[in-house]
Amino acid sequence: MEPYRFCPRCGAQLEHLPLSGRYRHACVQDGCGFVHWDNPLPVLAAVVEYEGKLLLARNAAWPEKMFALVTGFMERDETPELGVARELKEETNLDTVSASLIGVYEFMRKNELIIAYHVRAEGEIRLSEELVEYKLVAPEKMRIWNAGTGFAVADFLERRGLPVQFFDRATGENIPDPRRPTDFGLVSASLQYGIAQK
Ligand SMILES: [Zn+2]
Repeated sequence: MEPYRFCPRCGAQLEHLPLSGRYRHACVQDGCGFVHWDNPLPVLAAVVEYEGKLLLARNAAWPEKMFALVTGFMERDETPELGVARELKEETNLDTVSASLIGVYEFMRKNELIIAYHVRAEGEIRLSEELVEYKLVAPEKMRIWNAGTGFAVADFLERRGLPVQFFDRATGENIPDPRRPTDFGLVSASLQYGIAQK
């Protein structure tokens, strides 16, 4: 998102200054102390198992043939498990029978953090206005897109001994598994002004 230019608390112009490891937009007016931390937002994602298949849905705003997991933002005063069940109900009318954590994934492109659940669901599918189309895919036939929620699908399939096949959304071609082990050496690089001061 665009950085704030003015303090949402007192209206003064924000300064760009080093604070807790990074440059932040912060208010230096006496007694205010507002800081735009710009932390990632948690997003809930559901790998929905329904009648033995996995449910993918297409958002009205997306190109044809682009299907994805059901996702949504957490609400205040909500556990992630209840949040993912609420999103699924709102978007597909399905009822959650169980929700178990698959993993947590970066989605830096949108400054989000994906919390992915395997959701067993039942009921009758009725899509919300947000979604225009869905498909049910046999888990062993699933092809996986190279982005945050795709990695959740890959981990889900891998743990069940099912084939993990990624594809490139732009070309439709199969691609090698893009998952990489985490390089913890990058921790120091994320401390922006700490490096600059060396
Ligand atoms: Zn202020």
